[in-house]
Amino acid sequence: MENSTKQFDVIILGSGISGSTLATILAKHQVRVLIIDKGTHPRFAIGEALTSHTEKLFSLLSHQYGIPEFDHLSSFHKINKHLKNCGCGYKRSFGFLYHQEGKEQLPQERIQWGTGHDSHLFRQEIDHYLLKTANNYGAKFLCETTVSDIKIDASKVEVKLESGEQFTADYLVDASGYNSILAEKLNLREKPTRFKTHSRSIFTHMIGVKNTDDCLKETNANIMPFYQGTVHHIFDGGWMWVIPFNNHENSSNPICSVGLNLDPRRFPKNNNLSPDQEFKHFISLFPSIPLQFENAKPVRNWVATDRLQYSSSSCVGERFYILPHATGAIDAIFSVGVAQTFITISPLAALILKAIANKDFTTKNFASLGRLQQDIFDYNDKIANCTYISFRNFNLMNAWLRVWLLQHMMSVAKLSSTRLLGLALETHKGYKDRDWSRFTNIDYLKDIDPRTEGWGNSYVQKAILEVEKVEQNLLSADEAAINIISLLNSTS
Ligand SMILES: Cc1cc2nc3c(=O)[nH]c(=O)nc-3n(C[C@H](O)[C@H](O)[C@H](O)COP(=O)(O)OP(=O)(O)OC[C@H]3O[C@@H](n4cnc5c(N)ncnc54)[C@H](O)[C@@H]3O)c2cc1C
Repeated sequence: MENSTKQFDVIILGSGISGSTLATILAKHQVRVLIIDKGTHPRFAIGEALTSHTEKLFSLLSHQYGIPEFDHLSSFHKINKHLKNCGCGYKRSFGFLYHQEGKEQLPQERIQWGTGHDSHLFRQEIDHYLLKTANNYGAKFLCETTVSDIKIDASKVEVKLESGEQFTADYLVDASGYNSILAEKLNLREKPTRFKTHSRSIFTHMIGVKNTDDCLKETNANIMPFYQGTVHHIFDGGWMWVIPFNNHENSSNPICSVGLNLDPRRFPKNNNLSPDQEFKHFISLFPSIPLQFENAKPVRNWVATDRLQYSSSSCVGERFYILPHATGAIDAIFSVGVAQTFITISPLAALILKAIANKDFTTKNFASLGRLQQDIFDYNDKIANCTYISFRNFNLMNAWLRVWLLQHMMSVAKLSSTRLLGLALETHKGYKDRDWSRFTNIDYLKDIDPRTEGWGNSYVQKAILEVEKVEQNLLSADEAAINIISLLNSTS
């Protein structure tokens, strides 16, 4: 690049779903954006199961910033219409199959709830699509590029590359995920993490995974097929995801995403076993699972993680913001990762646009959003921790999943409220209005916060306490289940 093109308004580190989404919004609004990634596209990424909440957020971002390409990702059918052959799967439900060691899975220990016409994102295609969209709106992209140094002072950000090239910008966003450059450089990682959830994961993409329903004894014709959704095989101490991409007449990608999540305090990593061996050993303990994987073969190397949870003491500072996946992570359960990212991006993009317009990047303007991001992590952590505790007993899991579902439905309803979409639509229509303050004030942050308020928050908090008492041996799992169900009945 010429020297004159080395000055940007914003530099984004990482071109995954979060970096490219933010870059698209900023570039669309005439911000000079540079994205730097150490890798390239298309490339494998995890985070494939969506919820109705995530889909609504795609829609919200589309209306808020006038970007139709986001709305194309807001349902399975829209994806099929606008992104032909992108390999995504269909999600009509969350399905939970409870297993006990050495025993056949029981039909009465199955739980399912419907979602909208949601999707399983084939991330390598979707991330690439979003990067190309950012590019089309004018964002510059450097791939396979290593950052060697970052300097931030009161007046600017300087990013130096291993090649010796140097770029300056007014603001820096770290979207580089687990290996966050800024968290490392500024020593922000909490060691040990403050999160309570304990899990590790092994995961891969497979072909030849059988349709879940074909492997179940006594299926019920009155419920939706499990295979047209995200399947969770649950057992005491962990769970497995099965995320098919070939589960609809319009989705023919033969790949199925498979992941095994274990509490390492119960099931420590055994370095003498390969992930494939560990996976096969584990499923052999549960007589109803192996049939589904009888002919399955991994099509890429397994990834075996250490403890998944990591956290940072801060995500905001002078002239920088660290996006959620670079700040911390909890667990794949309930697929909240991408949603959390979009909850941040919705107000963050407006904050950056406002900062550029006012030439004022004062940290305190971003501080409320940083607090919200950290609070959502703590909330999601409590929920995930309780979920793992609940897995020790079907009745407790059954009661607890209802709590999760109710709070999820309330967060979707909140997001669909006329106030939030109304604000976004108003901007979408007019477009002349460059006053982003409506999306940056405290009320907007309250609206986008997925946590329940008032009585909703009160029952969630009470239910959390009931489940935590089980872990502390103050209550049996069955007693906690009864208490939670009566709590739910008393709120209706
Ligand atoms: C096991 C697991 C399962 C999950 N399942 C789900 C799910 O089902 N649903 C869901 O919503 N969420 C899920 N999540 C969370 C989800 O994966 C993340 O929220 C999401 O992928 C974050 O996207 P991102 O763009 O911020 O980060 P990433 O997708 O991690 O992208 C980071 C980018 O930064 C680049 N990068 C890294 N280091 C550097 C560097 N030094 N310099 C430049 N670039 C760099 C990488 O190459 C990459 O392109 C899961 C997470 C895990 C760990």
